[in-house]
Order: sequence, then structure tokens, then C-alpha cells
Amino acid sequence: MMNTNQFEETLTPEEIQFDVSLRPQAIDDFVGQEKLKERIDIFTTAAKKRNEPLEHMLFCGPPGLGKTTLAHIVAKHMGSNIRVTSGPVIDKAGDLAGLLTNLEEGDVLFIDEIHRLNRVVEEYLYPAMEDFSLDIIIDKGPSARSVRLDIAKFTLIGATTRSGLLTAPLRSRFGMNNRLDYYTPMELKKMLLRSALLLNVAILDDGALEIARRSRGTPRIANILLRRVRDFAQVKAGEQPISKEIAHDALAMLDVDEIGLDEMDKRILSTLIEKFSGGPVGINSLSVAIGEESGTIEDVYEPFLIQQGLIQRTPQGRKATPLAYEHLGFQTPASQQSDV
Ligand code: ADP
Repeated sequence: MMNTNQFEETLTPEEIQFDVSLRPQAIDDFVGQEKLKERIDIFTTAAKKRNEPLEHMLFCGPPGLGKTTLAHIVAKHMGSNIRVTSGPVIDKAGDLAGLLTNLEEGDVLFIDEIHRLNRVVEEYLYPAMEDFSLDIIIDKGPSARSVRLDIAKFTLIGATTRSGLLTAPLRSRFGMNNRLDYYTPMELKKMLLRSALLLNVAILDDGALEIARRSRGTPRIANILLRRVRDFAQVKAGEQPISKEIAHDALAMLDVDEIGLDEMDKRILSTLIEKFSGGPVGINSLSVAIGEESGTIEDVYEPFLIQQGLIQRTPQGRKATPLAYEHLGFQTPASQQSDV
């Protein structure tokens, strides 16, 4: 099962619609990821000048950081149509053939969760990506034969939260491999001010910053929290704009962690501290104790915890830092204090 964070697991259809309505359409509205945006701009502009389809692109990174949004922005920038699908949906080679043969020259095919494509389908994708052709087997038994079909020159944009699960042959067929990072509170604040404007919500700078600080570095979470704080403000604070205090009270009531940690983040830290005396512990033991796949811990949760200085990765394994003890309200043992 794909594991995301608590906010995504509980997304209602209305919230998904809301998410889409706040999705930036143009690269200028896409906050942060400056280097990546610059690269995309160069690649797309060059491809347009040469009048060629764009190279295949891969976007990696934890959920909610803007991979899908960027794929739409790239397609728009190229003046192309985009077809959106996802790895687990493409069940059979025939499904893929159907998708590919319907593409027109220059179209973008976006495959979310591309690491979840099954191997048979994946192998059909190789010649499609490389030579824009498909080898289809027709007939069965002794008369079975392979027929080569040409398809339109398209651009594949793949997104994955689990880049470690991508096979080497698939990875090597992408011309551009991009990693998205968590956003800073200042970047999220900027994004929240834009969202508030679109939603017609009155918010002060410090109110936006307070929400930004607790959004786990993730735009999708920031937008969801904005909406929840808005609802709180309407009921509890009358017509006042969202200030730092209002945001603080709303988020405290919603039980949102001071630094944005979600349930799984906290479970990882408390397991590390309570069951493994703060570590170091190997990722596999940690994964068994938590009941979550080690790859998901590594790709989805750990990067944020490391970035926040709550976990250290050492050659012996993962360690909880004194900050993690402090944040969860545990006393830091002397052994941990001495070596950080
Ligand atoms: P992913 O595909 O990585 O899971 P999405 O592209 O679906 O993430 O982004 C989730 C939501 O967050 C989008 O609907 C959009 O509103 C918002 N978002 C993501 N990245 C940005 C950004 N850089 N600037 C502004 N909004 C963003």
C-alpha cells in the first residue's frame, strides 16, 4: 500500500477539488525549487526552439511537494496536451498500448507513482520511450508474432515518492532526473498568501508564517491547514483576519504539531527513543518495530526528520538527536548529550 501522511490519507473529494483549485498554472506562481525551475525553463525553451518534443523527465520526492503540478506546468509551457495516469492503474501491456497509441505529437504522458508499474508493462515502455515504437505480440501459440507499431513522439513525465524502487533501465531512459526538496517556512508563507488571496481569506503575514512553520515543509499540507484554520477563524474569531494567535489557537485545537510532524513522524521518533534507547538502530529493525516498509521510512519520512535535525544517519544506523528527545518531552540521556 502506498503510504502517505495523515493529511493525505484523510483527503475528502472536496479537499482534492480544493487542492486542484489552488494548483499554480504558471511557472511564476510555482513557489521555490528555484534551480529546478530554471532547468525546466532552459530545457523547455530549447526544445521549443528546436521544435522537438521535450526529453522524458522524472520527478522524485515525498508526496505533496509539487510533482504533479510541475508536470502540468511543463505541458502548458510546451503548449501540449497532458494525459494523466498512474503506475498501478496500468495493469496490462494493452492498457499502456491504448494510452500510447492515443497520444499526439508532443503530448505529455504523466505517470504518477511510476515505481509501481508492473515489470511487463515497464518493458513495453522502454522502446516507446527510446524509439517511439511499441512491440505488440499478436496471436497465440505457434503463430504468435511481434508487430512493431510507431507512436507519436511524446514526452513521458514520471513521478515517484520512492526513487530507490525504480529499476535502473527505466531510470536511465529519463533525460532529466529531478529531485524536489521540502520547502522553507518562508516559501510556504509566500504560497499561503497566494492561496489566501485566491480563496478570499484575510490573513496577516505572521498568521501565514505560523501555518507555514507547521506544514511539514509541504505545500499540500500548508493549503489544507489554511483551510482548516479559516474554518476555525470563521467560527471562533468572527471577521478578524487570521493572525499568528488565531493560527496558533486553531492549530493547537486541531492537534497539529508545533513543527508539523505527523503521526508517523512521531511514531518513528518515539520508537527510536523508547524501544532502541535512541539508537543507533538499523533501518530494518526500525521498520519492523514500526510496521512500515523500510523504503517508505527512508524516502517519505526520514528526509524531513533529518532536515529538521531530529534524526541522524550514522554508519551504525539511525539515532535520535537531543532535539528529538526534547520535542517529544523525553529526558535526554547523558550518552546522547555527549556526542552531539
Ligand atoms: P505531488 O504530485 O508531489 O504529490 P502536487 O503537485 O499534487 O504534489 O501538489 C499538491 C498541491 O500543493 C497542489 O495542488 C498545489 O496547490 C500545491 N503546490 C505544490 N507545490 C507548489 C508550489 N511550489 N507552489 C505553490 N503551490 C504548490
